[in-house]
Amino acid sequence: MATTKKTASILSGLGIEERNLGGFAGEWIGSGKAQAVVSPVDGELLATVVNVTKDEFETILGRCHGAFAAWRQVPAPKRGEVVKAIGDELRANKDALARLVSLEMGKTLREGLGEVQEMIDICDFAVGLSRQLYGLTMPSERRRHRLQEQWHPLGVVGVITAFNFPVAVWSWNAALALVCGDTVLWKPSSKTPLTAVAVTHLAQRVLERHGFDPAICSLAIGKGSDIGDLINTDPRVALVSYTGSVPGGRHVGKLVIERFGRMILELGGNNAVIVSDKADLDIALKAVYFGAIGTSGQRCTSTRRVIVHESIYGTFVERLKALYAATTIGDPLDDQHLMGPLVDASAVATMLQAIETANGQGARVICGGETLDQPGGCYVTPCLVETTGNLPIVQEETFAPVVYVMPYRTLEEAIALQNGVPQGLSSAIITNDFVESEIFLSAEGSDCGIANVNTGTSGAEIGGAFGGEKETGGGRESGSDAWKAYMRRQTNALNFSGRIELAQGIELEL
Ligand code: NAD
Repeated sequence: MATTKKTASILSGLGIEERNLGGFAGEWIGSGKAQAVVSPVDGELLATVVNVTKDEFETILGRCHGAFAAWRQVPAPKRGEVVKAIGDELRANKDALARLVSLEMGKTLREGLGEVQEMIDICDFAVGLSRQLYGLTMPSERRRHRLQEQWHPLGVVGVITAFNFPVAVWSWNAALALVCGDTVLWKPSSKTPLTAVAVTHLAQRVLERHGFDPAICSLAIGKGSDIGDLINTDPRVALVSYTGSVPGGRHVGKLVIERFGRMILELGGNNAVIVSDKADLDIALKAVYFGAIGTSGQRCTSTRRVIVHESIYGTFVERLKALYAATTIGDPLDDQHLMGPLVDASAVATMLQAIETANGQGARVICGGETLDQPGGCYVTPCLVETTGNLPIVQEETFAPVVYVMPYRTLEEAIALQNGVPQGLSSAIITNDFVESEIFLSAEGSDCGIANVNTGTSGAEIGGAFGGEKETGGGRESGSDAWKAYMRRQTNALNFSGRIELAQGIELEL
């Protein structure tokens, strides 16, 4: 293997070999195209992954679907015990998995550790949930009748994930799906297949130890346009949970709705922070800065726009610029660096193109936006761009550390700017004014799925339902009652009156 000793020990500890099969459904399979996985950290070859063929996908889906028949009959709290054990395995492997996340996609180790912690947290949440899959009983309008609802397992959940949270997004879906009695078929991003192989090994160990069919957590690595489309179109996949770009979601959405499948769409954001003249500026600066440079601007909730009151605009921009200038950029596994590389060379090219387009549309670069000469070729400096509103380029999500700063005069104008883009994921206001924050959170305020006060746009906790409106797709995952999307609701009327009586008082003479 062309890896250093240190990298090799991380990989082997997680069951990653020089050559890995990209399919799993009780056994490891794969005979398609072999793909080299290169680290954006320094261009090092980490390992190869063999994609699955369409025939192999058929086998994988068949087994995952077959495993559902038995898994749905396991009592939910027992399913919870399995998820608890997955959480414990993650605890035991937290450091190694976090390092692999950093090596494969380039986020800093502290963020990699945070991502694995998020997996542990959602497992804990799901264990509790396994005893709380409540249905309601409602008063019946008929004498000696009972009206109730039950929640039943749904089937195979196809989990299609983006590169930027290569393992956490699987866990948000899988932990809930498993306690709900569903089986899971994961298609990870082709940019991050190794973390998916590692997590599947871990789930396999747990399922086998507990005497369950390991095909309950299946894996199919391959191109979105072939393996992804097989998931989109196969009626055996009861729910498609898709995390990715807006154009991708539009494609998936059409195919899934065509067969009346269910879906959760978690698509792109274009997240803004409003910095009021009544803000604590230290809080505002930190909230914006971390939201902008965290994961090198490659979070769906990354701060992309900052809408600053005109009276503090100059001061705020100067202070932010100073923070940008002091950003430490380099090897994400080295704790002194706040920013690692972008995921690959195409992400760098997209960033540079967006800056050029912004310039052409009348925006002005305040600082950053340069490439750095470092191994791997994926390091950039974070970029601040001044604009006077939502220019066409500002309305797009550029998945890189580019932030557009713009002034506002009234709160109404700021909220209109904040809402004036097609996406609706995350938003924030920094203010110490109670009325301002209440207006921002009210029906006339932010139109996003996430709206925060005095904290930034990124860094969601698993306890709340996560997702966004408009082009972000409307899906919700993770906490609150997001579990309901992973089950089918059944309404029951039970008659113990000894006679037949129709609802709405309809009489039938026989
Ligand atoms: P992407 O759209 O390029 O890919 C996402 C996934 O879709 C990958 O697994 C890819 O292989 C797959 N795919 C491609 N074609 C497909 C097809 N025809 N059918 C099914 N799947 C197909 O996205 P990316 O670059 O990996 O991730 C970045 C994007 O994801 C950004 O837009 C970001 O905002 C978004 N994202 C959203 C959330 C959220 O929760 N809202 C979270 C993370 C990332």
